[in-house]
Amino acid sequence: VPVEAFDIVIFGGTGDLSRRKLLPALYHRWVDGQIPENSTIVGTARSELDAQAYRDLAREACEKASGKSWDADAWEKFAQILHYVAIDATDPEGDWEGLKARLKAEDGRPRIFYLATSPHLYVDISRALGKVGLVDGMCRVVLEKPIGTDLASAQAINDGVGEVFTERQVFRIDHYLGKETVQNLMVLRFANILFEPLWSQNYIDHVQITVAEDLGLEGRADYYDRSGALRDMVQNHLLQLLCLTAMEPPNDMDDDDIRTEKIKVLKALRPVSSQDAKRLTVRGQYAAGMHAGKPAKGYVEELSETGGSKTETFVAIKAEINNWRWTGVPFYLRTGKRMSSRHSDIVIQFKQAPHNLFGEQSGNVNQLVIRLQPDEAVRLYVQIKEPGPGGLRVKSLPLNLSYAESFTLRYPDAYERLLMDVVRGNLSLFMRRDEVEAAWRWVDGLIDAWDTSGYQPEAYPAGTDGPMSAAMLMDRDNRSWWKES
Ligand code: NAP
Repeated sequence: VPVEAFDIVIFGGTGDLSRRKLLPALYHRWVDGQIPENSTIVGTARSELDAQAYRDLAREACEKASGKSWDADAWEKFAQILHYVAIDATDPEGDWEGLKARLKAEDGRPRIFYLATSPHLYVDISRALGKVGLVDGMCRVVLEKPIGTDLASAQAINDGVGEVFTERQVFRIDHYLGKETVQNLMVLRFANILFEPLWSQNYIDHVQITVAEDLGLEGRADYYDRSGALRDMVQNHLLQLLCLTAMEPPNDMDDDDIRTEKIKVLKALRPVSSQDAKRLTVRGQYAAGMHAGKPAKGYVEELSETGGSKTETFVAIKAEINNWRWTGVPFYLRTGKRMSSRHSDIVIQFKQAPHNLFGEQSGNVNQLVIRLQPDEAVRLYVQIKEPGPGGLRVKSLPLNLSYAESFTLRYPDAYERLLMDVVRGNLSLFMRRDEVEAAWRWVDGLIDAWDTSGYQPEAYPAGTDGPMSAAMLMDRDNRSWWKES
């Protein structure tokens, strides 16, 4: 369904995120006929480019992202709505008027400012936009993660942006929430009668959330070394997935209803104390090992830091949610770089049947596995009888919903969905200020616990699933990390 015509300005329009995700997302929405022809896309950054040079940059990016589905004719038309204005965001005397002149001043036309720059520029950009008179009731601003590096810096950014934009104009993006399977988690839970009665400590043994990457630093060394896995992945993606898994049913799909339920979960997260830091968390850093069958450098060698680094590239946490529904059900979170493979899953492990009629069972057998990447899928593992005459043998097999097999449509990227939600003004998949700050509060407490207890990252060989302590975190509870069989 086409959206209404809109203007979008991409700050950081020449950067990695713009080239890999934002420009291709807009191009694909255009190809699918969702973007009206009188819309305007303006890229901006400090580089002095003319419109043609920017179109060339964007073309290369979109062609690369499209692969076989590249449509050169559609591109020619799309390029006509693409413009560029050079601005240094830190310069209040920059060409803000030139930017204003590029945008249409029509009543009721959504105007979106997408801030795909380093977060330290968000406040400067917001103030300059306010000063030049570009902010009105139909404006929306999109803030990329990370919003700050701790609670205090997140509050400073939220305060600064909040001087210019109202809270309902601020779209704090977490692209994990745009993934089909993540949205499907809500549909699965709240559109079916099947799961919700089982969705509590009565029937669920534990939950695992894994976001594993096989890649290493890939050119983002500066940023990553200042951030680390906890701030880069857990504060946003993993905690958001935890919230959607654990939240109460919202009253309706209204954005504030959903966000209000999510924040209740964040507030119920038990803080990790320094005494518990080593018992409830694992902090790792990859050493030399293997990647894709070849020797791979360790993190510090990749950084080329002679002085070493104390940044963690792996985190595992046994999180506890102190509320009526979840007390006693651990949520094991795990994320890392240079792990054995790239996969993101939410695994709901149900308890064992109370009485066993069919002989030995190996552990808990019913699992709901929600695979976010690669190959989005939902699998419900159930016990079935193994066919054949040789007695009643029972086996665990998945009822399998593979997206690729079930839906033949082109698979839109999360950014496509989220960008169109911004145009429509739908905030439900974006984070509210209090959510981001509650997540930072919990993460700050954990960093504090690591510092106070002197917990330094433990080494793990590249190409493995983290330090031994990560396996032991589960082992101590007679559990193990889920692995696809
Ligand atoms: P990047 O490749 O370093 O790009 C930064 C962009 O900002 C460039 O277009 C740069 O162009 C522009 N810029 C830098 N300083 C500027 C200034 N003073 N005024 C105006 N423009 C300026 O960074 P990125 O990887 O695209 O990341 C952008 C944001 O998205 C960050 O907040 C990042 O954390 C977030 N993010 C990125 C990814 C990803 O996969 N890349 C994923 C999630 C979130 P000029 O040098 O020409 O000014």
